[in-house]
Amino acid sequence: MGEKVTMGANGKLNVPNNPIIPFIIGDGIGPDIWNASVRVFDTAVAKSYGGERSILWKEVLAGEKAFYETGSWLPEETLSAFKEYLIGIKGPLTTPIGGGIRSLNVALRKELDLYVCLRPTKWYEGVPSPVKRPQDVNMVVFRENTEDIYAGIEFSAEAQESIKMQQFLLHEMNVDYLFNPNTGIGIKIVSEEGSKRLIRSAIAHAIKHKLPSVTIVHKGNIMKFTEGAFKQWGFDVAEAEFADFTYTWGQWERTKAEKGQDAANAEQKEAELAGKVIVKDMIADNFLQQILLAPKDFSVVATLNLNGDYISDALAAMVGGIGIAPGANINYRTGHAIFEATHGTAPRFANTNTMNPSSVILSGVMMLEYMGWQEAADMIVNALSQTIKEKTVTVDFYNLMENATLLKTSEFADKIIEKLK
Ligand code: NAD
Repeated sequence: MGEKVTMGANGKLNVPNNPIIPFIIGDGIGPDIWNASVRVFDTAVAKSYGGERSILWKEVLAGEKAFYETGSWLPEETLSAFKEYLIGIKGPLTTPIGGGIRSLNVALRKELDLYVCLRPTKWYEGVPSPVKRPQDVNMVVFRENTEDIYAGIEFSAEAQESIKMQQFLLHEMNVDYLFNPNTGIGIKIVSEEGSKRLIRSAIAHAIKHKLPSVTIVHKGNIMKFTEGAFKQWGFDVAEAEFADFTYTWGQWERTKAEKGQDAANAEQKEAELAGKVIVKDMIADNFLQQILLAPKDFSVVATLNLNGDYISDALAAMVGGIGIAPGANINYRTGHAIFEATHGTAPRFANTNTMNPSSVILSGVMMLEYMGWQEAADMIVNALSQTIKEKTVTVDFYNLMENATLLKTSEFADKIIEKLK
């Protein structure tokens, strides 16, 4: 008999030894990679806890499978299961085309208010990479997941609302802008609450995992009241809520300036600041250069929705691409979290048993860590790293490696399972 994961009054998750975890198998290559991954999870949990813990998987439907079986792309029962059991995991889903159907991923994020999109980027030895020193890339991106220009408030060039909006801006808001005919309009939303809760989670993560820095990435130089405000609210959170654990560039600069005047005192302060998390900021375009030039300078990254979308994929490409990049969407307050492969359904390869299951496997690792089952998570990471290091890989890596052995999806999982100890 399984039990529910719940959120305690202290803001910490209560994870029973036999949690019920809903999963969506996913469309396209979803079943191949899920069936491989779940064997890895179950074996790692069994080996780590000597049978004392196990996950009770509960299949819930979404995507094409849901549509064929129930007529709905995202049945109400699926949403209620994720609400009820707090933690879930999913394979990739087909985005239904046309007909006013939203992306299923966006629907899930909105429904559960999963305000953090968490994307760790780390290189595993042997993984083919386009950069010279992929080992220098070790970052965790906290992407705001509910606001920004992605909030979905937009009007097409043909819509009456777009004309109305233009009239409103020109005549009531004194906007001085020459609109071209046929102009679509989208609205960028950035709130204090939305920014602070995201950046608060990023700073808390850095402190908990003893990471050196949080970089707030933004385009506040141009978009002052949205991205600029995001940055400022971030620094406000750092100074108001984490003063004992963080320091900001401003504090660092002040300490250095004081050094000239009162060296002993300033050195004392400098020592106090060392060992704390530095909270800094960087303009997004410069950041995209710097991750290529000096990736070691970055650890935790906090950014808005659109920047985060680009940044996560650019970083994923540096360490081996979407076949291996995991992700999660989390609401740290309610505890709701959905872990997911970041790639799509690759429909041409459905049922070929050839694709790389690493993205789902590492999403599962993130889930185990979130549950506090660190031993099982570490066991999987070690086995996966060794399997890749030995060049026994699926076709995506095989094509880019020399002297590698080509494995099917299921065989790759078998290799990992052999190494779980
Ligand atoms: P995709 O990620 O499905 O595939 C692009 C290419 O990446 C594939 O042709 C394949 O060569 C490679 N690839 C993807 N996953 C791989 C894996 N596990 N191992 C090895 N190679 C892999 O992107 P797409 O073709 O643009 O999208 C197909 C469908 O997936 C669309 O319906 C799209 O909306 C949906 N999608 C879903 C999600 C999600 O559910 N999170 C994310 C992106 C796209």
